[in-house]
Amino acid sequence: MAKAFTIDLGATSAKCAFFDNDKVIAKFTFSTNPRENLLENIGKEAREVAEKNNIDMDNLDFIGIAVCGIVDNAEGKVIYSTNLGWRDYPVKEEMTRIFKNEKVVVLNDAKAATFGEWSKGLKKVPDSMALFTIGTGVGGGAIFNGRLVFGDNTGLPSEPGHGGGFQDEIQCGCGLKGCIEPISSASGIERELIAKAKVSTGPLGERYQKLGDNMHIKDIADLFQEKDKDVIAVFYKALEPLAKIISVIIHFFDVSMIVIGGGPSNLGKPLLDLLKKQAANYVLPDFYERLNIVQASLSDLVGAWGVYEYGKAELKF
Ligand SMILES: [Zn+2]
Repeated sequence: MAKAFTIDLGATSAKCAFFDNDKVIAKFTFSTNPRENLLENIGKEAREVAEKNNIDMDNLDFIGIAVCGIVDNAEGKVIYSTNLGWRDYPVKEEMTRIFKNEKVVVLNDAKAATFGEWSKGLKKVPDSMALFTIGTGVGGGAIFNGRLVFGDNTGLPSEPGHGGGFQDEIQCGCGLKGCIEPISSASGIERELIAKAKVSTGPLGERYQKLGDNMHIKDIADLFQEKDKDVIAVFYKALEPLAKIISVIIHFFDVSMIVIGGGPSNLGKPLLDLLKKQAANYVLPDFYERLNIVQASLSDLVGAWGVYEYGKAELKF
């Protein structure tokens, strides 16, 4: 029966929602540009939206925020967020000051998405899963034994996009070798699509003639569904590093489900089938037989839901 307001603070926008008794009763999106006084400005907007919807801002059970960046959730601090330009930012303290509420939940955005997908999307079944979000980068998180995985050393695990030596084609901006992010992210897929389109004499090439370098995945979704061979070739190759990291997770932790979210996941079952086909090259038969890859079910508000559900669980509502 919890009432709450939560923010999913991403690189370009903040997706905000008011919850009452497990329902979204009001929501709004706020641009993260300009960055100055960002939380303060979100706070002002929230009060206006609350007023219009007859929500008593001073009577919320808790508030929460998911932040794109490295988060110390126990301390309620953002260690750093490149996208927001925050370093050692006391986000919990700021939220309390702005929203006049002592009960504040702080999570990294990928962990929030993981918890949202598991608790709201999957109704907390199965007990273990790993989520990959394919967007500008590749984020993700895991649930193990019904708990969100925070790690036991750094407390920072939500960076499946980096490290690992899963490819040797494109250098990642983070400086490590073989990150999956430059290839398996939506940005990586789009870069490859454009490279392929430039030399394609088929429908992909024709699409490129019309759209040029402004061609995005959604613009070729129809070609993907029609199994255009150039488009399928690009995706098959892009999914290889992702299939490799899935293989490591499956062989080591034997999680029951792999959930794929982010823009490209809207391509649905054909995309999951292609990923599964790629995974056949990397996953042992006994594991492969039970490999369960599904599409994320929550879209825009997954992070906001994640913080709400996590707050409810942690604060015992
Ligand atoms: Zn990297």
